Amino acid sequence: AEPFFTKRWIDAELVDGKRGGAFCAGITPDLHPYVFLNYTGQPRDVMTLAHELGHGIHDVFASDNHLLDYHPVLPMAETASTFGEMLVFDRLQQTLSSQEERLALVCSKIEDSFATVFRQIAMYRFEQRAHLARREQGELPTEKFNELWQSCMQEMFGDALTLGEEHANWWLYIPHIINTPFYVYAYAIGELLVLSLYARYQEEGEPFVARYFDLLAGGSSRSPAELVSAMGFDLADRAFWQGGCDLIRQRVDLARELAK
Ligand SMILES: [Zn+2]
Repeated sequence: AEPFFTKRWIDAELVDGKRGGAFCAGITPDLHPYVFLNYTGQPRDVMTLAHELGHGIHDVFASDNHLLDYHPVLPMAETASTFGEMLVFDRLQQTLSSQEERLALVCSKIEDSFATVFRQIAMYRFEQRAHLARREQGELPTEKFNELWQSCMQEMFGDALTLGEEHANWWLYIPHIINTPFYVYAYAIGELLVLSLYARYQEEGEPFVARYFDLLAGGSSRSPAELVSAMGFDLADRAFWQGGCDLIRQRVDLARELAK
């Protein structure tokens, strides 16, 4: 990621009138990507930088493809960005000396995984049930959507909390449900894919790296299953996915340990 810093491909400074948020803009393979940030120096911003630089590296690696294969397909779009976050997370985790700081970091990572995996899957279930109900019962009143939403989300939380009545309308704030039905699965599969890849990286170390770079260089020239199988992994193999889920469990165990 060095050229991003040395060649000034990052717009990080806070300036009056600048829009908020962060993104990486990779436009065409013959132009280098730019990273856009609003860097305030908070730990959150370090993670955002790692995330956007992941996108940047993905774009740089994929730049040998022609335009139509340059941008990764949806399930792979957050691979390098999430992987970058994991690398920085692990490094920070090792360098923090206070238990409290480490606990805060680990908890924020667990919450992120929870929001990207479990929550998105619960939303997906909501969409499934809503589409099915529409097919079977015709036009549905808002109350019906509220009811389906509430039950899907309550299932996810189990007995950890009871959702209040105000929560029933919350499906309304998720644009994907209307604009790109079932898009939410991409977040879940993306996060799980990276967790699983990262688990393999931890196991293998250095030999993993070249194959991972090849995966990124593939852009969208091949399907996710083909790209991953070129690395020697099988998306249909339960054990591959379990490796990623185990990583979440390890973090939960670590948080428990740190909280003692
Ligand atoms: Zn991203």
